[in-house]
Amino acid sequence: MIVEPKTRGFICTTAHPTGCFENVRREVEYVKSQPHVDGPKRALVIGASTGYGLASRIVSAFSCGAATLGIIFDKPAKGPRTASAGWYNTAAFEKLAAADGLYAKTINGDAFSKEVKDQAIEMIRRDLGTIDLLVYSLAAPRRTMPDGTTVSSVLKTTGDPFTNKTIDLKTRSISEVTVEPATDEEVRDTVHVMGGEDWKDWIAALHDAGVLAPNTVTVAYSYIGPELTHPIYLNGSIGMAKRDLYNKSVEITKEFPEVSAYISVNKALVTQASAAIPVVPLYISLLYRSMKERGLHEGCIEQMYRLYHEKLFPAGQPVTDSEGRIRMDDWEMKPEIQQEISDLWTRLDDSVVRDHADIDGYWEDFYQMFGFQIPGVDYTKDVDTEVAIPSIGE
Ligand code: NAD
Repeated sequence: MIVEPKTRGFICTTAHPTGCFENVRREVEYVKSQPHVDGPKRALVIGASTGYGLASRIVSAFSCGAATLGIIFDKPAKGPRTASAGWYNTAAFEKLAAADGLYAKTINGDAFSKEVKDQAIEMIRRDLGTIDLLVYSLAAPRRTMPDGTTVSSVLKTTGDPFTNKTIDLKTRSISEVTVEPATDEEVRDTVHVMGGEDWKDWIAALHDAGVLAPNTVTVAYSYIGPELTHPIYLNGSIGMAKRDLYNKSVEITKEFPEVSAYISVNKALVTQASAAIPVVPLYISLLYRSMKERGLHEGCIEQMYRLYHEKLFPAGQPVTDSEGRIRMDDWEMKPEIQQEISDLWTRLDDSVVRDHADIDGYWEDFYQMFGFQIPGVDYTKDVDTEVAIPSIGE
């Protein structure tokens, strides 16, 4: 069929198989054009189908030569519905890995569940023996807890309501938005979903099964951002979850002698999740423009390659800040970039947006996440939407 983007709010409900393949192929080519990283050899990537997790899997495989096991939560095509972008990305990844003789298998299921953890352990035992890297890159709206109840994460403040400028990305107009505070229960639930409990559960399960190599590295991703987003991010309900993620990294390193756990603080990028956070898309579109003008803009793949090459697996020890965190937001937080954005923010109106915000770049990234607007892809061509992930259903 001919596949076109269908957006509902800030979600695109279709994905293009050829476009997604091309996205992954381009990320693989980028990594292969860079110097090799002397890194992990057997990696488990949780949240491996899109964004930072997919990029981590690509760098593990195509720069370090690692065998990869990916955990994803995606939908295959069904009747007139296309598969999710993550499904097509994973099919592309496995195909490209196989062409280079690299082991790549995938489990499609709920990473929070015991069943998926057991399945992963069984596959590691059977095929790899042990893993030496675990990337934890989940971004989930909800979690089914071990007792069967389901809790959801919220994007709210803690404490007072917060009013600031935001943008309607469709009409490109500025307005004010007020974000209400989360209840204590909502904060607790957000920590259950986006904090570090499940990360630590994974490490404990893998440790108990004896499938962690000596000197295993594990990394999870976080965000800090500028002061103007602190009430909604760093000090908001999601920030409380990220605080828990950091605390769990310290506990993991202390409690599991064979594991070193790190938090990598990454750059703000367009994803389905970030489009839904008030204020943040406006910040991101100013940031993109400022970083592109300085030649400092990076997407997920450039961020993750630099993470592996310069910070996580350099010769010698990982490079961290005084709190032990890896700072991949170092370029985003450069004083001249932040100063420029904060000056613009004080006089923000529709004309400032027109002249200084990269809304086109925002939308380009948004559509490209779903395989649309990729140069070289002929979107008038009929495509088969039913694409198999080779290792699923084996
Ligand atoms: P994303 O939505 O692109 O990727 C999330 C992945 O998690 C997908 O592969 C999805 O299939 C998987 N997933 C979701 N629920 C799952 C479940 N129950 N079981 C198995 N897999 C599941 O998100 P992203 O932006 O790449 O975010 C990854 C991490 O990076 C998050 O912790 C996020 O907070 C962090 N981060 C993101 C940004 C940003 O600007 N996007 C910046 C810094 C840090």
